[in-house]
Amino acid sequence: MVNLSKRYDGHPALAGVDLKVRPGEFFTLLGPSGCGKTTLLRLIAGLERPDGGDVLIDGREVTTQAAHARKVNTVFQSYALFPHLNVADNVAFGLRMQGMDKPARQRKVAEMLAFMHIEALAGRRPEQLSGGQQQRVALARALVNEPQILLLDEPLSALDAKLRAELQLELKRTQRRLGMTFVLVTHDQAEALTLSDRIAVMRDGLVEQVGGVTELYERPRTAYVAEFLGQANSLEVNGITGDEVDTPIGRLRLHEPPAAGLHQVMVRPERLSLGATADEACNRFEARVVERIYLGAGTRYALDVGGAALVAMVTHQSHDTHLPAEGETVQVQVHPRDIVPLAER
Ligand code: ATP
Repeated sequence: MVNLSKRYDGHPALAGVDLKVRPGEFFTLLGPSGCGKTTLLRLIAGLERPDGGDVLIDGREVTTQAAHARKVNTVFQSYALFPHLNVADNVAFGLRMQGMDKPARQRKVAEMLAFMHIEALAGRRPEQLSGGQQQRVALARALVNEPQILLLDEPLSALDAKLRAELQLELKRTQRRLGMTFVLVTHDQAEALTLSDRIAVMRDGLVEQVGGVTELYERPRTAYVAEFLGQANSLEVNGITGDEVDTPIGRLRLHEPPAAGLHQVMVRPERLSLGATADEACNRFEARVVERIYLGAGTRYALDVGGAALVAMVTHQSHDTHLPAEGETVQVQVHPRDIVPLAER
């Protein structure tokens, strides 16, 4: 995708997007409602034409090529199954359109139904299927055409949380087994982290940052990316001295001297440790526990450091860990490596 732009009624939905999706990767477009994710997906599919810029697939320009001429299939949020066809005929549809003969078609459909574990549903109509089953059929119907790229537009958002988590893992395994390029649209950061090799975080019709999941979570470039991917303690920088910065919680040492003009740093809640250790390299300060919430796998703390608020997440390593109570004073530590400098945009 090179410098893609698209306007609707004079309002820019995409304002010049450059992105390169690598063959065989699980790539996700992540961002809030209205940031242009679906528009971008529709341009890749050929369902829309851009106002400017080019779409290339395998190095070949396809910007004006019709959707059906591209080796791209889309799975929509609504599944869009044909209501009057049974599961096997729904899955066979694309192959029939390609003119594949019946024996070959039947063989491929049977293979795909087995691959998705839905053989038993072959004779049912969509209305006789649960949401999760419909989703599997929609996926089978797209995959059987062996597209070069599979586009997924919030395919799991209609499902309940448990089924959704199950199908996320299934989708990831399917993509790995096939080694096919998947491009997913979602506004759900947990889903994006679970599924993706790389993510593009979008904002107002532009890509704010592209990177691997670890890189985006650990080293977000801006506060917007940091906060979109998870909880973040963002701290104003009021002054810089060498490798140290003045913040509302005190002076913090960074891993390396920051660029002049740095105005904000970020620390993930789980990178704050409670209780002093011997690690002299760490930044250490005193905090008061304002709130303690037990979450099973961990405990979430709201802390007050001289009037500034911080959130810490502590995972439970053993039964006998002492959990500081509300009102107690605790030592908080953060390693210089875990303090992330943020750019404005
Ligand atoms: P959502 O998650 O809500 O689908 P999105 O990030 O996918 O959001 P898009 O659907 O790409 O966002 O929309 C981007 C912008 O373009 C929005 O402001 C939207 O209102 C506008 N838009 C999208 N499609 C059309 C259309 N067919 N006609 C007019 N405006 C549109």
